Amino acid sequence: MTMRIHTVAVIGSGTMGAGIAEVAASSGHQVLVYDIAADVVARAIDGIRSRLDSRVARGKLTAEACEKIVARLLPVNDIHALAAADLVIEAASERLEVKKALFKQLGEICPPQTLLTSNTSSISITAVAADVRHPERVAGLHFFNPAPVMKLVEVVSGLATSTEVADLLCELAVNWGKQPVRCQSTPGFIVNRVARPFYSEAWRALEENVAPAQDIDAALREGGGFPMGPLELTDLIGQDVNFAVTCSVFNAFWQERRFLPSLVQQELVLGGRFGKKTGQGVYDWHGERPAAQWLEPVGATFSPVIANKRSDGVTELEDVLLVETTGETAQSLALRHNRPVVVVDRMDGEAVVIAAAAGNPHSATQKAIYHLQQQGKRVLQISDYPGLLLWRTVAMIINEALDALQKGVASEQDIDTAMRLGVNYPVGPIAWGERLGWQRLLILLENLQRHYGEERYRPCSLLRQRALLESSYES
Ligand code: NAD
Repeated sequence: MTMRIHTVAVIGSGTMGAGIAEVAASSGHQVLVYDIAADVVARAIDGIRSRLDSRVARGKLTAEACEKIVARLLPVNDIHALAAADLVIEAASERLEVKKALFKQLGEICPPQTLLTSNTSSISITAVAADVRHPERVAGLHFFNPAPVMKLVEVVSGLATSTEVADLLCELAVNWGKQPVRCQSTPGFIVNRVARPFYSEAWRALEENVAPAQDIDAALREGGGFPMGPLELTDLIGQDVNFAVTCSVFNAFWQERRFLPSLVQQELVLGGRFGKKTGQGVYDWHGERPAAQWLEPVGATFSPVIANKRSDGVTELEDVLLVETTGETAQSLALRHNRPVVVVDRMDGEAVVIAAAAGNPHSATQKAIYHLQQQGKRVLQISDYPGLLLWRTVAMIINEALDALQKGVASEQDIDTAMRLGVNYPVGPIAWGERLGWQRLLILLENLQRHYGEERYRPCSLLRQRALLESSYES
């Protein structure tokens, strides 16, 4: 079916439009490049040429292939010329009224078989298609930035989108060397929804003063296997952009509390501290970034500690209990067990995060640190905080992924693929949940919900069902 797509039109020649035009031209299509501002088109084509030239210089592309790709890019200054396209990809400004007007016009200009798609990150495809003639041909084709590099494309179906159109777009994405995932037109689609807790839990930890930014980032990066910490990532994305996406998802879900935007982030935005692009955000990008506060080795002062690992996730280090986090604070556990408690938060990485009960003798906490360091772990200590950093964040991401799955946003496989390829998570969240154990995730979220009395941490229905199934297999 893809054979019938010869000419592609791209509307909007900014960051995304230029990247998408490059992808389509590199895949052999004639590409009509249109923008409301004609000078932007020329700049976009120059930008594509210089990116391709640098690939030629690095031996990744032949000069001849580069010339052919550039020759396929045709600047267009009249929207009526888009009637010649088999597929239109709109990447204009993220405003509903702009997109609705464009699509209505496209519906009149283009023949009924022309596929009309939008690269929108947050606008409903159903809304965009509402006034279009033959709305079954309207879909979302959501690329990630930079489009020529990022593999993922979310193929988004609105209420009217036909299955054939979604199939065709998936096939096309594969031919363009991309990995498509299918999803329904719901706020944030897959990636921008399921990724929200990655950021919001980091802001929360910062707001509650449990650790400095560099420790929060180091924990997620070196303990959780994320390629970048959440706060440094928001500095790269741009605090303005990241905050706008959070606000958009929050409002689109009728102010659902788990998507609540952060006041700390809002302050950065209000202060023009957008991150790397303005030189200041969470971090000061002019100077050296502060290093994470890894604990010094304590080995020299300790004789070997006898460790007794129990089956319930607790290790007895003589008088001290080292407890794998289940969302309770160290202090509440210490009171219950009447012993010093250190809670540990760890996944596969070499970094672990700990929190000690306030009443612990210094030597008790040191004993736990010594034990972990003997296992080759690098240790970060934070304030006594329920769920700490890794488990809490990952549990919230998994909970969101399950919620999206249950509500039919996308398949399990597509959700996992989207999060691995769209934001480079080390494991897809649902596969991750399977590995970590549904019951433990449920207990952790229930404890967080109890601790805060907040809707934000409510476990979703599918998590409860999976935890029940898991327990029935075990018994
Ligand atoms: P941008 O501001 O860089 O570019 C938008 C371009 O659209 C501008 O050149 C503008 O002149 C043009 N434009 C505005 N109204 C137009 C109209 N009526 N007709 C034709 N051209 C018009 O924006 P961007 O970052 O490239 O984003 C474009 C779209 O892609 C948005 O919907 C955005 O949500 C989405 N998106 C952006 C990213 C990202 O990281 N930037 C990632 C995925 C999706």
